[in-house]
Amino acid sequence: MSPLLAAAARTSVDTEFYSPIPDGYRFGRHKYLVVLGTVISGLGKGIFSSSLAKLLKDKGLVVAPMKMEGYLNIDAGTLNPFRHGEVFVLDDGTECDMDLGTYERMLDQNLSKRNFVTSGQIFRDILDRERHGGYLGRDVQMIPHVTGDVKRRLRELAMHGDGQRPADIVFVEVGGTVGDYENGFYIEALRELAFEEGPNSVCFVALTYIVEPGSLGEQKSKAAQLGIKRVMEAGIQPHIIACRSANPCTSTVLQKIAMFTNVAQKRVFSMHDRKSVYEIPDAMRQEGLDREVLSILSLHDRVDLAQEDRHRERWVSYVRKMQANRTKKVKIGITGKYAGLRDAYASIDKAVEHCSTHLGCDAELEWISATDVTDDNARSLLGHLDAVIVPGGFGARGVEGKISCVRYCRESRVPYLGICLGFQVAVIEFARNVMGLRDANSTEFDSHCPQPVISELPEQKRIEKLGGSMRLGGQMVQITPGTLAYEMYRHRETIRERFRHRYEVDPGYVERLEAAGLIFSGRHPVYPIMQVLELPRSEQDARHAGDKPAITHPFFFAAQCHPELTGRPLRPQPMFMGLVSAAIKRKHPEHDPLRWVKESASAEVG
Ligand code: GLN
Repeated sequence: MSPLLAAAARTSVDTEFYSPIPDGYRFGRHKYLVVLGTVISGLGKGIFSSSLAKLLKDKGLVVAPMKMEGYLNIDAGTLNPFRHGEVFVLDDGTECDMDLGTYERMLDQNLSKRNFVTSGQIFRDILDRERHGGYLGRDVQMIPHVTGDVKRRLRELAMHGDGQRPADIVFVEVGGTVGDYENGFYIEALRELAFEEGPNSVCFVALTYIVEPGSLGEQKSKAAQLGIKRVMEAGIQPHIIACRSANPCTSTVLQKIAMFTNVAQKRVFSMHDRKSVYEIPDAMRQEGLDREVLSILSLHDRVDLAQEDRHRERWVSYVRKMQANRTKKVKIGITGKYAGLRDAYASIDKAVEHCSTHLGCDAELEWISATDVTDDNARSLLGHLDAVIVPGGFGARGVEGKISCVRYCRESRVPYLGICLGFQVAVIEFARNVMGLRDANSTEFDSHCPQPVISELPEQKRIEKLGGSMRLGGQMVQITPGTLAYEMYRHRETIRERFRHRYEVDPGYVERLEAAGLIFSGRHPVYPIMQVLELPRSEQDARHAGDKPAITHPFFFAAQCHPELTGRPLRPQPMFMGLVSAAIKRKHPEHDPLRWVKESASAEVG
């Protein structure tokens, strides 16, 4: 270890190089690729970083992404989807930024709390440590203590890797743009990291934006030059420049950028808009971006070429299917609180897209504001749809509209997928309109409700006293053999899905709901918590007691979990496959709605 690094490993009392290095950390073993944004936010840093990470993962390298958020919230759990897009939930229960969803989908890799950090988490840890005397009498400072904590987290993630093997490359995405007040300490920490790790260990990519004002009709590079200058002012010389733009960048622009940033032109790339984000990995590969990264980080000798070819073929064939002309068209309605805000339901959007690609159909999503729907107008608002999704949600606004929406779908035999709150409103609707429990409701919306078919369970209330009342993260679900769920999950008796909720079906009503014909096809393996429901597709599938004819439906399915969070391009989510396929069947009666199950034995659905 160099004297500098030896000093870095000591504590803050005897050196300015305070940088707590985790036990067993090996310099040179792990590399870092840092993506910084310039000029404007919203350039797609997450998409860029996850696409590049995918290319390198396909080569057999172990990758671990890290998203650094400038905000002071501890996590994204309290953020309003209206302002920040959906709250993504990881298997370990971390509530995070929707970008982590992009990484999980692109990499087909489960992430954890180690892959997501906010300023709030860092400051909380440092202040806690300070109160416990952890700084040995020193004044606690932004540099070296705050930056030291950032480096510690990065190195710990590098050692943790993908959970099985240590990382070859940690992909670091810093939220916001360089020059923002709130991410400055992250950028300083990364500069320090590059200094400490030494040459060929950290690759800085500046993502920039080339403007093309309509009045000029040509691309201009000045804003990009100024943006990159800010990176250099922070003491960072970028190794690669990626130029986001509406159209391919002209060679004049690329030359100018190279000239003003000290970056060789072969390392200045045009990253113009594509039809789909899934086209980006291959576009990067064709431009040679991955090879430049391997050279900058001296990683050529860790590459497995055979693996790369295999992965690329599978991905390219998915992209080709996506680009193919799809003649079957279906319209799927989403009745939510944040209608029109794609980002608020980003994972649902993606889950439908994966399934429609696999099923060879073109699924158009239509956003319907739940507050607009009533029993009287449901047919006119929803009548043209081939399927409906009621997504998750919190709070009473729009709930009655969602119940009307369920009623319309159930009675008119429109394929229905209820997600979380969409599962709860399906139970309420069934209780009210099939069982005649006119006052059925959830205690979330009516705390003194006389027929609380959905309520906060005693177990949840007990947890609430301890601080966190939400049931969060991956949980096992036991699937009942012989049901539609069992068929869609290819006869798996236990599955794992992700949850984010506080209320559940009240166990006291389960028997009555079942006796009236509702099938709970997924349950908690131990507790009486209902996780998946469906209506029988035919009289033979019905399971209820009594002599009333069964209420049947071609596809009426709902889950207390969030299946959209586990959908991946090459492993589409079964519940969404079921819904999209049922939508095709409604529009094209010759379509076999469960053919995908038979065909998916080799296609890794779920
Ligand atoms: N509001 C409901 C609950 O807390 C549903 C939550 C959700 O849809 N994510 O249980």
